[in-house]
Amino acid sequence: MSSRPTPAELADYEAQADAWFRENTPKDPGFMLPLTFMEVSTDQQFDFLCAWQRKVYEAGYLGASWPVEYGGGGLHPDFQRIATKVMKKYDGPIMLNAIGIGWAGPLIMDIGSEEEKKKYIKGMLNAEDIWCQGFSEPENGSDLGNAQLKAVRDGDEYVLNGSKIWTSLGDRAKYMILLARTSNEGPNKYAGLSFFLSPMHAPGIETRRIKKLTGEYGFVQCFFTDARIPAECLMGNEGDGWQIAMKTLEYERGAKVNLAGGYFLKELDAMGVVELARQSQRGGKPLLDDPVMKDRMVDFMMDIQALNLNNQRRRMGPLVQDRPMGLALMNKLARTEMIRELTEFSLSFQGTRGGYYVDDPCAVDNGYWHRSYLNSFSATIGGGTSEIQRNIIAEHVLGLPKGR
Ligand SMILES: Cc1cc2nc3c(=O)[nH]c(=O)nc-3n(C[C@H](O)[C@H](O)[C@H](O)COP(=O)(O)OP(=O)(O)OC[C@H]3O[C@@H](n4cnc5c(N)ncnc54)[C@H](O)[C@@H]3O)c2cc1C
Repeated sequence: MSSRPTPAELADYEAQADAWFRENTPKDPGFMLPLTFMEVSTDQQFDFLCAWQRKVYEAGYLGASWPVEYGGGGLHPDFQRIATKVMKKYDGPIMLNAIGIGWAGPLIMDIGSEEEKKKYIKGMLNAEDIWCQGFSEPENGSDLGNAQLKAVRDGDEYVLNGSKIWTSLGDRAKYMILLARTSNEGPNKYAGLSFFLSPMHAPGIETRRIKKLTGEYGFVQCFFTDARIPAECLMGNEGDGWQIAMKTLEYERGAKVNLAGGYFLKELDAMGVVELARQSQRGGKPLLDDPVMKDRMVDFMMDIQALNLNNQRRRMGPLVQDRPMGLALMNKLARTEMIRELTEFSLSFQGTRGGYYVDDPCAVDNGYWHRSYLNSFSATIGGGTSEIQRNIIAEHVLGLPKGR
């Protein structure tokens, strides 16, 4: 890793990044962009987001701290943190290839072979190769260790049979990080799992789009019927799948760093809700003058501030060394639940207009709040439901007795 930059070097870099994002961040593309990488519905959205990610990468603001030999910028991670901060400041579109640059990429950088790094990293960064994640199955979402999709070795290939579901970007992806069962033997269900960096465009792999509550599309069910993939797609050894999946979740839940940068979810800004309250009226007066409303807004702002500060604690080694997942799990749980409450709150003061949705002339801000509210449920399910987070925190962080 390159040496730690001086404050002056960081300030220079920030000024450059600021100028670039001010100049290049697209304003209004003239059509609705997804709020997160999980709601990419149309070719128009997809092409636009691919082009934006590529542009950010080519300008050096994505993958800035990854090694040059794999397509990165070779800079100290502090530079990437600054680039991402500035990107957020200008509220640009999300980075599309979240699963690639957010968790498959860091995983490969962490434990992948030299060939895997050379083969996959650059295409992830420049959005040429979109990635998806095949963990959940129709009968096994929370119970990930029970994954049943079968992978049977046949010479230089594996033959896959089974189904994965809720696969975000599954219809757009070139590759999938895939958890599959290579054996039913072994001391427990985890021992028979293996991890693959699988192509999506192999004969026998089909996807069917699933419509969401919001009317958007963004995930699919994947069907594997005697699908054949090269044996070299296996990551690590047969039977290593559970450990590798757990490492992937450390990236997905934000417990580990070495990320390529960028952001994948539009963070809801409490100040936006304050502004909405200022513009809304009750009894002929601005809603924000209502002391009860003010009180709730202050509570939300304190919660957001606490979450942001808690997030920074993740970089303080001594605080996280004993329980690396603890803070990340708490943050995921608290943030996603809070966003649900905040969006619900924003609808509550729109009166009946809160019931109108996107593209309805009666909807407030073209239904942005309504759509954010409906989408807020995704984050409390994806990457592990709130109930499962509570279980893990109780058992593995607080050491409480295991539930039945
Ligand atoms: C928008 C979105 C995008 C997603 N993208 C992906 C993706 O790209 N790839 C992927 O692999 N998956 C993806 N998922 C799937 C997600 O990870 C699963 O939905 C999640 O793990 C829950 O699994 P399930 O839906 O099978 O629910 P179930 O496991 O059937 O759970 C149903 C309910 O029971 C509760 N429950 C289950 N077990 C317990 C327990 N032991 N204790 C207490 N409560 C329990 C759950 O919390 C939940 O409320 C996505 C989901 C969403 C919503």
